[in-house]
Amino acid sequence: MAMQGYCDQIAMHVRQRSTWSWRSSRSNNRCTFALRMGSARHFRWPAPLMQSAVNVLQTFGRPIERDRVDGGNALSGSTVNYVMATFESAVDVDNIRSRQCFACGGKPSSGVGEHVFPKWLQTRFDLFDERLTLQNGTLIPYRALTVSCCAKCNNGFLSGIESKVQTIIERGTVDGDPDVLSLGRWMSKIFVGILVKETALLLDRKDPSLGHIMAADFIGEFANCQLILQSARKPTLFCSLHGKFPFSLFWYRIDTERGFDISTDIVGQSIAMRLGALGIIFVNDGGLQLNAGVDGPFGLQGLTVTPLQFNELAARVHTKASLRDATHSYANSETPEHLTIEQQDVHPYTSTILAGGEMQVFEPWNSEMFAVRASRITRLDESVFLDPVTRHEMTLLTNLITSKPSDFEQCA
Ligand SMILES: [Zn+2]
Repeated sequence: MAMQGYCDQIAMHVRQRSTWSWRSSRSNNRCTFALRMGSARHFRWPAPLMQSAVNVLQTFGRPIERDRVDGGNALSGSTVNYVMATFESAVDVDNIRSRQCFACGGKPSSGVGEHVFPKWLQTRFDLFDERLTLQNGTLIPYRALTVSCCAKCNNGFLSGIESKVQTIIERGTVDGDPDVLSLGRWMSKIFVGILVKETALLLDRKDPSLGHIMAADFIGEFANCQLILQSARKPTLFCSLHGKFPFSLFWYRIDTERGFDISTDIVGQSIAMRLGALGIIFVNDGGLQLNAGVDGPFGLQGLTVTPLQFNELAARVHTKASLRDATHSYANSETPEHLTIEQQDVHPYTSTILAGGEMQVFEPWNSEMFAVRASRITRLDESVFLDPVTRHEMTLLTNLITSKPSDFEQCA
């Protein structure tokens, strides 16, 4: 059977088995499928193994060994640049371990590599000597936060994203879907960049046997971030279930021009940044938080808030993100001209059924968890967010809240 036929056959089988999500990339002489269950495991079949892939899918439920037979570099032998092949190469654990270009998995250029926080941003907010806290609690100067990158990615699609985002940040407002997409790609780049850097740094410099801060395999958990970033390489059609794009992004005007702040949540895969007059919060959740409230906590997106209020909003989104109890399946496809990123279904992790008979997508809101997080990000006492006597949740946003709590806050 021709390769095209195999691709379509596998596609059909995967679509029929909703537990699977899949990605495919086709080139002139090869076709790569990547299948995932949930977001953790990751299997690949090169063209010669496609028929066995079909067989495997037909006997779904059987334990499957991770198949690393790859047939060589996914980028070679192709006269057309397939984004999905580049994507596969960028998230390849061996490429991450061997410090290949973080954006394409190819040979990196010599020199410092790509600044995760670009130089224009460091200059604009005077960050060169400021430091970011890593997962192990150590601090790294922003100027030292670089990852391996090749000149083609650095000067090509990445620099295109930077110039768009620079304009948005100078303007201080988000104006329509193209801005949202540029910011989503940029936040994805920063998120992936921090994590890739952490795979290269020792957890404890005094004890190398403890390994690195982040295991290279963990980057696979952030594959959707990498895909959102890669979509800048080619005209992309997004078919998303909850909004225009397969991520959640909320933005706010900040009532001061100055200042930079960042907070992240690895469990919830969320990142918030205050960039002068603009605050942005991004969640790699396929857009599930949009479903809980398209304008974020209390429906305040786009309003003017103080830096402290923005930090509270970030704490709310981070908390919600860490309570996520579902993921998505995707059916992505690509032609030489277009990439299509298509969400198929929402898949619950725990299959908890709610009182109304619906499947749980977020675990119940947890005020104590929120208060701990809000206290850490705002550097205010926990009692500001949780009454120590009544245990009632409190907020710094009372001057802005006009609506009753939505799903976002109550989130049954
Ligand atoms: Zn590259």
